[in-house]
Amino acid sequence: MDKQRRKFLKIAGATALAGISAPVVVNLTGSPAVASAAKNQASAQAAAAGGHGDDTAPKGVKLGLLIDMRKLYGHPELLDKATQACNKAHNIPKIDNKKSEIKWIWKTPFANAFTDQSTSNASYTTRNNDFLVLCNHCAEPPCVRVCPTKATFVDKKTGIVAMDFHRCIGCRFCMMGCPYGARSFNWMDPLPFIEELNPDFPARMRGVVEKCNFCGERLALGKEPACVEAVKEAGAIIFGDLNDPNSEIRRILDKEHTIQRQAAYGTKPSVFYIV
Ligand code: SF4
Ligand code: SF4
Repeated sequence: MDKQRRKFLKIAGATALAGISAPVVVNLTGSPAVASAAKNQASAQAAAAGGHGDDTAPKGVKLGLLIDMRKLYGHPELLDKATQACNKAHNIPKIDNKKSEIKWIWKTPFANAFTDQSTSNASYTTRNNDFLVLCNHCAEPPCVRVCPTKATFVDKKTGIVAMDFHRCIGCRFCMMGCPYGARSFNWMDPLPFIEELNPDFPARMRGVVEKCNFCGERLALGKEPACVEAVKEAGAIIFGDLNDPNSEIRRILDKEHTIQRQAAYGTKPSVFYIV
């Protein structure tokens, strides 16, 4: 086994663990005990809010993300900032080729992001701004169901749909299973395309699938996801436990109308949008 491969395995293992450690929840959303004690209340609030009841059924911690597009309209530079922060944190190679590009969070027009929504009556603003899209960390993820090696799995402590790069055999079943195009395949060695290597995150190899991990490695250090931090001043992306009635994300979901991407697929996305 060559040196690079050994290093990859070591960091990948550490990252997988880091992404599922308990402090994640404590630092960001209050203690699991609080979430658990308040679960009935959360359920009642969710039902009262109408529309998110199923998605927030109290099964412990379920991390989610809310993108308030009202704060991003007219500011494409903020979308780029969030993407660049993610790319930098995760050694995402810059490959200018549609077939081979690697994307964890990217911008796309409303019509592409929400293919089930009518655009004919959408506002001018909605139709003329790009939206940030990423893995939805679905509560019912088809990508997990079809993975033969369990390389992609739901972390029970956080609800994150995680990847163990080491277990990925590159069959791409998960890519076919994901209806959101949220996964990318490394058709070539990504290393030569990484502009500035972050030594704290593993660089992947050719033949491995990857996607947004909700910054599990940052959560384990008590930090927010890189995209959230990048647009912090605008307060445009909110991250936290959907099942914790005291979390900011839960409070916003309970009072604002939000939409999810293609919710009718039944995957129960954990990424919400205010449009
Ligand atoms: S968005 Fe796609 S990759 Fe992410 S959890 Fe849902 S099905 Fe899986
Ligand atoms: S949560 Fe982290 S990995 Fe996911 S898109 Fe945001 S920055 Fe990227």
